[in-house]
Order: sequence, then C-alpha cells, then structure tokens
Amino acid sequence: MVEDNYKQRGLRNKLVKKLREKGISDERVLTAIGKVPRHAFFDAALLNHAYEDKAFPIGEGQTISQPYTVAFQTEKLQVKAGDKVLEIGTGSGYQAAVLLEIGAKVYTIEYNRKLYEHTKKFIPELGYKPFFFFGDGSKGLPAKAPFDKIIVTAGAPVVPSALTDQLTENGILIIPVGDRERQKMLRITKKQGKLLQEEFDNFAFVPLLGDQGWK
Ligand code: SAM
Repeated sequence: MVEDNYKQRGLRNKLVKKLREKGISDERVLTAIGKVPRHAFFDAALLNHAYEDKAFPIGEGQTISQPYTVAFQTEKLQVKAGDKVLEIGTGSGYQAAVLLEIGAKVYTIEYNRKLYEHTKKFIPELGYKPFFFFGDGSKGLPAKAPFDKIIVTAGAPVVPSALTDQLTENGILIIPVGDRERQKMLRITKKQGKLLQEEFDNFAFVPLLGDQGWK
C-alpha cells in the first residue's frame, strides 16, 4: 500500500482548490481527484511534482495528463456512479482511477505494450481495478460495447466512427481532435441515433495512433 501522508493530502487539497478556481465545479470529479494518490503514479525522481497542475512523462514517450485536463474531460463526460465507461489510452492509469473513484465501471485500452503491462500490474495494487485491454483503441472495444461514456486521452485527427457506433442512446464521447500539436475538445452525444457535437477549449495531447488515429 502506498504511503499517503499529511503533506500529500494537503497538497492534494490545494490542487482541488486550484481546479475549482479554474472552473471545475462537478463535486463528483473534485472529490475523486481529492482521493486519488497522484504521487503513487510518479517515479521517485518526479515525486515532488505530483500535485502540480502539469502533465509529466511516464516513459515510452507518453505522459500522465495534467490534472486540469483530467478534471475537464471527466466533468464534460458527466460521469456518474454505475456508468459503463471506455477509456482509450490507459497510460499511467490515473484517469482510470479517477473514473473508478466516481463509481463508474471502467474498461481501459492501451496500445503501448510496456505501459499496458506496467499499469495492469501496478494500479490494482493501489486498489483500482478497471478491466484492462491491450490493442488499438481507435477502433473502440467492440466485444464489450455499447458504452454509456467514452473518453479518449490522446489527440485524434478525426472522430473515429467506431467510437460513436459503440455509444448507447444518450451516450457521450469526449475526444480531443485536431493536428499533432493542438486539438479542440469535442463532446459528441448520441440522441435518437443522431450525433450532436459541441466544441470546447484547445488542448495539447500526445497523438492517438492506430487505424482511425495517426499513422
Ligand atoms: N489516460 C492516461 C493517464 O491517465 O495517465 C494518459 C494518457 S497519455 C496522454 C495517452 C495514451 O494513449 C498513451 O499511453 C498512448 O500510448 C495511448 N494511445 C495512443 N494511441 C492509442 C490507441 N490507438 N489505442 C489505445 N491507446 C493509445
């Protein structure tokens, strides 16, 4: 079990306060971020930075997303307890842990074999048990579809049709779409079979690879 001391809890409370100031208001999201020991997802060398509102390297050229980005995507996804959620881009497992703290049933897929192996072994030791899958998440996870919510944590060139196909009625997809450097956050809601699209701020994610991602 990871140590979670007074100092780390204090830093986490400060982070939650900062996210509130930046406009995050969903109490389920703020409570979840207040619970997940983000420092446990960091290498010893970067430990002191765990509660900064920044993205950090996790190896394999990938990153653990900035807490604001995690909070923003989770809030816009309107996640609630009992939702069946697909996360594309497991990475460190931090976003999956936040979704689990909210009470969602989480399926998470990762395309990088080393990260998949590492996170699959590591986060259950912290008590976080999503269903792990290895493969190209740009195609979704047809064997387990449909999903109430889908969150893509890498930047896509287009909205993969496989993902909207795998949404339930009233299902929501949150996905950053743009070029390799900058993407606009899109929220797509399925209503009576139709897709409703909303646009939010710009973000900078690592690229979504694969069949319906970057080649
Ligand atoms: N959600 C992660 C976290 O909480 O640490 C951060 C994810 S990181 C910004 C993006 C991840 O997407 C990387 O781990 C990358 O390997 C993964 N990825 C890229 N293309 C993918 C694909 N087609 N399917 C699944 N994962 C993919």
